[in-house]
Amino acid sequence: MNEPITIIGAGLAGLTLARVLHVHGIASAVYEGESSPSARTQGGQLDIHDFNGQVALKECRLFDEFRGIINMGGAAMRFLSPGAEVVGELPDDGKLQNPEVLRGDLRRILIESLPAGTIRWNHRVEKVEPAGSGRHVVTFANGTSTETAVLVGADGAWSKVRAFLSGARPEYTGNVWIETFLFDVEKRHRASAELVGAGAMLAMMPGRGIFGHREANNVIHTYVVLKKPQDWEPAVDLSDRSRALTHVVEQLGEGWAPELLSLVTSGETDPVVRPIWGLPLGHTWDHAPGVALIGDAAHLTPPDGDGANWALYDGAELAKAIAADPGNVEAAIRAFEAEMLPRSAASSVEGYQSFERTFGFNAPENLRQIMADVLATSQPASHSR
Ligand SMILES: Cc1cc2nc3c(=O)[nH]c(=O)nc-3n(C[C@H](O)[C@H](O)[C@H](O)COP(=O)(O)OP(=O)(O)OC[C@H]3O[C@@H](n4cnc5c(N)ncnc54)[C@H](O)[C@@H]3O)c2cc1C
Repeated sequence: MNEPITIIGAGLAGLTLARVLHVHGIASAVYEGESSPSARTQGGQLDIHDFNGQVALKECRLFDEFRGIINMGGAAMRFLSPGAEVVGELPDDGKLQNPEVLRGDLRRILIESLPAGTIRWNHRVEKVEPAGSGRHVVTFANGTSTETAVLVGADGAWSKVRAFLSGARPEYTGNVWIETFLFDVEKRHRASAELVGAGAMLAMMPGRGIFGHREANNVIHTYVVLKKPQDWEPAVDLSDRSRALTHVVEQLGEGWAPELLSLVTSGETDPVVRPIWGLPLGHTWDHAPGVALIGDAAHLTPPDGDGANWALYDGAELAKAIAADPGNVEAAIRAFEAEMLPRSAASSVEGYQSFERTFGFNAPENLRQIMADVLATSQPASHSR
């Protein structure tokens, strides 16, 4: 392979692909729409599983760096009733099967592991066109373009590369998540820190919930989970913080303990509304020579605690397939697709089911099942993937 592999998107999938290729001496160019690594805050904490995300980080040869960013103790889980009584608790057992790291830290160690100039910031793809013989021309919003023999779409939920391969579009799941943060919680929000505990805290009513996450650096990241129609919009200006947070709490309805609502009303950031989307189950496409999809671009699933992990895993698996026979990338992409498509179809079914169980209309009656799910994800033998 003489010319670099073209990767669209410097998220976890694209960066892992670039890193594992680099480990095997194969060059790539990563084109990222954002203008710099710090153009956007990188969201919250992720638990990185030992059967997918951690496997990929070993392939990256970044496992020591990964261990250095773990938020020890953060894998604990606590389930509360709407009245704030503890109904179930799973401590962090310290076995590091699902340790928590900040997404920004993980992305940083991946970025720092690549040779300078690998990532081309401010290159937002506008379109992909065939150029004959399996080659493609990618045109960017900054007015430049590039032609490539191997194009990998790692450009997330609204992938432009996917649009070239398949007509599938993400579908709205009927859920919105609304987030806000509390800072310096040990000192300034002591009661909230005690309520949430060392890791994740979940309190559900049918179709609505409060999800608090104790993150590194003394932060609580709170999501309000609501069932809403696709055209729902908050009836207030979100930058009018205090009014907006009160409005969010009103959407939760009656029956919540004041200390749970306080995670929202005391929020120290303007609420951000995130409608939750997923690709149709079993999303697939006809193979196109010279093009591959990885991560959310291939199998966007509503948040079930696995999307980032599979994005890491896809990146590593595709890189390993290419490295096994760099002279025949076409065969490598086909081999990767033959493994990834059935794997992601199965994990998306699990993901949708687990998401619906956790945030669906029956919550919290199925709390026992949710806890069993959490226990199962910490036991790799139960995963056939
Ligand atoms: C609220 C929420 C919570 C979640 N929590 C978890 C969790 O706890 N654990 C977990 O495992 N997963 C979680 N996920 C899922 C996880 O975030 C995704 O599965 C993961 O980020 C997918 O990685 P990716 O690299 O495929 O895509 P992304 O992270 O979306 O990266 C895509 C990259 O491509 C760039 N890009 C997009 N379009 C273009 C373009 N046209 N041109 C150039 N660049 C482009 C983007 O700027 C971005 O940098 C959560 C998701 C949400 C929405």
